Amino acid sequence: MEKTVKLHDKTFRVMIPASEIDAAVKAVADRINADYAGLETPLFVGVLNGSFMFLSDLIKKIEFNSELSFVKLASYEGTESTGKVHSLIGLNKSIEGRHIIIVEDIVDTGASIEHMIEDLRRGNPADIEVCTLFFKPASYSRNYPIKYSALEIGNEFIVGYGLDYDQLGRNLKDIYVVTNE
Ligand code: 5GP
Ligand code: MG
Repeated sequence: MEKTVKLHDKTFRVMIPASEIDAAVKAVADRINADYAGLETPLFVGVLNGSFMFLSDLIKKIEFNSELSFVKLASYEGTESTGKVHSLIGLNKSIEGRHIIIVEDIVDTGASIEHMIEDLRRGNPADIEVCTLFFKPASYSRNYPIKYSALEIGNEFIVGYGLDYDQLGRNLKDIYVVTNE
């Protein structure tokens, strides 16, 4: 029988086994190793919480000297503006002139990554690229190119390997997709 897990009210089944995730992480790390060789100490910026497992595996496959920092995108209601204000917390050092690689668990519409990029740009880095474990090209609606994506998927909802369903499922080592049961 196929292995399933129940998280809250939904049942999930394995979609991508850990071995395939590992191969995809290796392939994206190889590309980054080739592109950043010889550049001055790039800085990996992991977006919490979802990217913690991906970044911990990715960084072990990186062969150049680099720095690592985790950030969180906090959104709150602005005092005067009507919309939501987003601010980046966790970066306490200047990023001026640095080569930044944002590490995300998943890029869907692109709204979150756009806020991240806008915020980071204010710090005048040399350049910013995005490295995401999962990319949903069919729902991506922004212009910023997603240079490194380990795996592309459709519009299904997935959990595991850091990704959650209402905070559950981050510990799973395979990727699971919701079933229709
Ligand atoms: P975006 O701002 O690109 O639309 O969405 C990005 C965020 O939505 C991700 O960081 C993640 O928190 C959440 N998200 C989008 N698709 C999925 C999915 O299939 N599974 C999980 N667990 N989260 C998702
Ligand atoms: Mg995320």
